[in-house]
Amino acid sequence: MLDLLIKNARYAVTSNKKNEILEGVSIGIKDGKIAYIGTEAPDAKTIFDATDKLISPGLINSHTHLGMSLLRGWAEGVNLQGFLERVWAAEGAIMDEATCELGTELGALEALLSGTTTTMDMYLNPVATHRGAVRVGLRHIAGPIFFDFPGLDGLQWSQRIERAHQWPAELAKIGGPFIPTYFMPHSTYTDSPENLTEVAAIAKALGARIHLHVSETEAENADVQTRYSKSPTEVCRDTGILDVPTIFGHGVHLSDSDMKIAASKGTSVGHCPGSNLKLGSGLARFNEMRKAGITVGLGTDSCSSSNDLDMFSVMRMAAHVVALRQSPADVDLTSIVRAATIEAAKAVGLGDRVGSIEIGKEADLIALDLHAAHLTPVHDVNALLVFAAGRGDVTDVWVAGDQVVAKRQSTKIDLTDLIKRVNLRVKALEPLK
Ligand SMILES: [Zn+2]
Repeated sequence: MLDLLIKNARYAVTSNKKNEILEGVSIGIKDGKIAYIGTEAPDAKTIFDATDKLISPGLINSHTHLGMSLLRGWAEGVNLQGFLERVWAAEGAIMDEATCELGTELGALEALLSGTTTTMDMYLNPVATHRGAVRVGLRHIAGPIFFDFPGLDGLQWSQRIERAHQWPAELAKIGGPFIPTYFMPHSTYTDSPENLTEVAAIAKALGARIHLHVSETEAENADVQTRYSKSPTEVCRDTGILDVPTIFGHGVHLSDSDMKIAASKGTSVGHCPGSNLKLGSGLARFNEMRKAGITVGLGTDSCSSSNDLDMFSVMRMAAHVVALRQSPADVDLTSIVRAATIEAAKAVGLGDRVGSIEIGKEADLIALDLHAAHLTPVHDVNALLVFAAGRGDVTDVWVAGDQVVAKRQSTKIDLTDLIKRVNLRVKALEPLK
């Protein structure tokens, strides 16, 4: 008997190989996995009536910093450099371990309520952030971070290396939905080639993957070029980073040659159009990257630069960026939906587990209520998802079959209590205003 039958969905966007959009279909879940897709009604312990609902794979945010949700609206009217200066000052003032955990709880809750079931989260104190996100029910990819200098966490380089070795055991202790093991050096402008080489070697030895910022701005490219006479991608290649599965955050200013390198190494990109537009960083070449053979997922970046974790608005902006850079005829809506689901899953190393509605996949699913004026009529389901639907339409969310959002409410934590704790903690930022 099935554990759950999501019954009679008006649409199911599968993101399978054929990009099928099924109608009047039921989806059965057993032991956290999708065990049935069809039009019959097999026995199930629980029935979820999906009449007038759209079921989609949970959205996957392939680049973010959830802890920075506490800094929403903190750095406005600045470019990336100004942004970093303002944010680093605030982080220095409040981001101890408990605060990182609190900010991540807030971000994880926002993500889940918005229909995002997996996030690639680079932030300080990953043990604490992971604990917070798992508590809320998110599939939360975290990992030790690396800077040359003792960052806000005060760690020396040797301690960072030590933490990296301890990370797999820490992950096992915390539990939660499966995630790949990741190491997260911040970027080629904060980590020396020597240090990147060391991280790459440890990642290779431990079978870990790597996530770092690459070519977010032209200034970054120029800075790295001045220092090393190489592009950030070339630095990654020459330090061995690209010899392990790697995902770049942003990749706005990858040259044709960088794209060729990334594609040949199986490197993927987390494209964050919202953050790139807000900070004036540029318009990433989404179609060109895909054409070059790079797997591209979508992401929000942090709440201080985007200012939310809304993957529906990210899909919309990704489409707008293509229309603006190229033309509306170059906007392939299926590719946008896939970049928020299965392509993002592949980009973060979870392509065989989540990102599509297929038998055997883990049941990371979301339900959207289509009984709404702004979602009527439906001429094109992908256009509905990208241009008309929003996160407010998400009613129910499952991660590995566990219902973490029911009727737009978390089943795991109390929102009112969380808001109270957040507002109390951010009072410490008042003197910096
Ligand atoms: Zn970032």
